[in-house]
Amino acid sequence: MAADVHFWPLPLGAGSALAPPDPRPGLRRLVEAAGFGGAAARAGRWLLKAPVPAPGRPAAAPAEWIDAVGAALIGPASLPGSARLQVTDTLSISTRGLDSPAALRAVALARGFGVAGALPFVVGDDPDGPPPWPVAGGPDGHALAGVLAGVAGVVVLAPLRPHPHLGVAGAVATLGLDLADRASRLALHRGIRPQVDTPLCAGCGSCLDVCLYDAIVIRGGRALIDHRLCTGCGECMGVCFMAGIAPEAAAGVVAYQQAVAEAAAATSRQVVVGQAQGILHIVLLVQPDSYATTTKSRRRLPLAGIGILAGLDPVAVDSAALDLLAERLGGPLNQWSGYAQGPGELLERAALLGLGMREYRLREV
Ligand code: SF4
Ligand code: SF4
Repeated sequence: MAADVHFWPLPLGAGSALAPPDPRPGLRRLVEAAGFGGAAARAGRWLLKAPVPAPGRPAAAPAEWIDAVGAALIGPASLPGSARLQVTDTLSISTRGLDSPAALRAVALARGFGVAGALPFVVGDDPDGPPPWPVAGGPDGHALAGVLAGVAGVVVLAPLRPHPHLGVAGAVATLGLDLADRASRLALHRGIRPQVDTPLCAGCGSCLDVCLYDAIVIRGGRALIDHRLCTGCGECMGVCFMAGIAPEAAAGVVAYQQAVAEAAAATSRQVVVGQAQGILHIVLLVQPDSYATTTKSRRRLPLAGIGILAGLDPVAVDSAALDLLAERLGGPLNQWSGYAQGPGELLERAALLGLGMREYRLREV
């Protein structure tokens, strides 16, 4: 048994560029190959989850790419401005400017999301919007962004990116983390207790600058983390040029990975109930360097673009993504991401929970 994963490779001759000049035809072909062409025009409300870029940072997925996916989902009969298909993102737990509904909306608008003629944009877990949607069978108290309740279809678009507690994050991490409401994401991170390796610390203050919770101070030329304020978001770990911040104990990271896998599996089960189609997962392997920049991380996946993957099985999509990266790198991914965690560990846990399968058939579009 193997799951189909659709793959749009970079067109010949574009491999030396960081990104193809225009991936929109590839995105459209992937939506159609996965059987979602025109699906959002049929009935009910559809959501397209896409990452709004952090203020002042390059976009991993510019708004015009998102609208191209939307146009393929709606099909030729309707305009992209259809209210039946909304673009959504959830509040950040770690990035200034993306952590409140008003700020996220303003940044989204400034980056071309929800502007006139484009797909409408909605904050997924706006406290003034629909209440969080509790998930059955996930981590205790886990709830999804309220905007997901009652949707007829969901498409999740995410770049493959470095992640401090998972090594590399793709479709499974996005499902488990980014469709949840902000409080649930904070709860998932609670067990991560980052510690500064004091002899390594150069006192540069970069970690302090990115901490949204003012949990870091510099004392005696060294950083100190106040765990009463720290949420475990991991942002400080990504910016330390000395790699001087790491979780206090491996057990916390293992528990986190298990919880993310459980959240992803429970989310998938709950969202697809009553839907004609499952969730379509689209993973970008076209601008990993730019995405690393968007997360403020100093960790880099030093890759030229590879292509874009899409499929209904998030474990299979991520497995294909990791294999394509490993093939390009010729070595283990975690040596490039800079994090100790092997990126396959989350996928093994997710497969054991029945979210999907590690075996896949790559189908070029
Ligand atoms: S100390 Fe680090 S992990 Fe803790 S809240 Fe601040 S940035 Fe996040
Ligand atoms: S970023 Fe690293 S080196 Fe700089 S102050 Fe923080 S822990 Fe120290």
